[in-house]
Amino acid sequence: MASFTFFFHLFITIILHVFVAATPSSSVSQQLSIPTHFLDFAKKSETFDWMVNIRRKLHEYPELLYEEYKTSELIRAELDKLGISYKHPVAETGVIGYIGTGNAPFVALRADMDALPMQEMVEWEHKSKVAGKMHACGHDAHVTMLLGAAKILKHHEKEIQGTVVLVFQPAEEGGAGAKKVIEAGALKNVGAIFGLHVAPGIRVGEVGSRSGAIMAASGRFEATINGKGGHAAIPQHSIDPILAASNVIVSLQHLISRESDPLDSQVVTVAKFQGGDAFNVIPDSVTLGGTFRAFSKESFFQLRQRIEQVIVAQAAVQRCNATVNFFEGEKPSYPATINDRKLHKHFQDVAGDLLGANKVIEVPPMMGAEDFSFYQEVIPGYLFWLGMQNESNERLHSLHSPYFTVNEDVLPYGAALHASLAATYLLKHQNVVPIVEGIHNDEL
Ligand SMILES: [Zn+2]
Ligand SMILES: [Zn+2]
Repeated sequence: MASFTFFFHLFITIILHVFVAATPSSSVSQQLSIPTHFLDFAKKSETFDWMVNIRRKLHEYPELLYEEYKTSELIRAELDKLGISYKHPVAETGVIGYIGTGNAPFVALRADMDALPMQEMVEWEHKSKVAGKMHACGHDAHVTMLLGAAKILKHHEKEIQGTVVLVFQPAEEGGAGAKKVIEAGALKNVGAIFGLHVAPGIRVGEVGSRSGAIMAASGRFEATINGKGGHAAIPQHSIDPILAASNVIVSLQHLISRESDPLDSQVVTVAKFQGGDAFNVIPDSVTLGGTFRAFSKESFFQLRQRIEQVIVAQAAVQRCNATVNFFEGEKPSYPATINDRKLHKHFQDVAGDLLGANKVIEVPPMMGAEDFSFYQEVIPGYLFWLGMQNESNERLHSLHSPYFTVNEDVLPYGAALHASLAATYLLKHQNVVPIVEGIHNDEL
């Protein structure tokens, strides 16, 4: 490990000389590493104001999964202005940009583009102009920061020792856009992928992450429980699906409390229960649905199997029939987000250089889910939380809240982290034998 660190710093020193040669204020730059150099670039008012402007435009026109047409157009217009080549459309509205030599090694940076079907409740100048749609998960900031990274990297393109692949991805919120990006072949030959998510609960200038599982696998289910409707005062002539569904819900809660390992975190929540619309009528059927979460594949599929068994069997106790839908085709379940161990070390080095080692926080895993996990199923990947909380501010509202806001001070940090993670990754992987030699951008 020590010799690895030595060589890493040697690489940094070598590249610094290249960067220094390209900058007029070499005496100052000599003291700077790539991450701090990039952060200074991102904080320059020219870069910062440009990013703020982009983020506000995106915020005003939020678009839902696989409908990110204006968003995609804006991204392409900015890439055109920067002179960055790209592929489009990828996975419907996605854009894949390329910076660097066009040759191996390749490293990818990802930003998700979609908004949520909810009404913004924050009154401000750049409030969403689309009723019922809102960037409440910060994906407007994610797109902006990846464009910021693109600007930084393009400015230093001559020094990029390989190719950075920019992944502007649609449909993170339930649409598994990442899966479609992979199926489109956009990550062919890519050695690693990095992603970030804004975090309202972490201070600005700090980042949080961990090696291994950081977010859970997530699935959804919906069950229809069929009985026989009739008069509520003459129950003996009916088969009551409300009672059956109630027992189903209680039995589902026993899966976690009685069947799963208490040290292996899992969740089953019934979040939807619909049936009947009169005080004196037993309905024919009831629909209930919810979500289930786990960290290991084994636990996840065990849970899925038991949810179906419990619903069908428990409904039968009350003479009802039940069918269960897991929405496999249209809304696939998300795997767990598992951060690569080697990339964790890389992240700690780079983020430590950029922010200071004490600003790189180890966070516990959470039961939320991210479609970034699809990338990690095929190549090593790393997702981290980017802090947004100002010391003076009250606690920011959570992701997916109608009061959610982005602290725009975060933009230079995200852009510089993206750019630094990619540039230094390529430096570290110069000796890795490429899968395909001399590949051109267009063939990637
Ligand atoms: Zn979200
Ligand atoms: Zn999100």
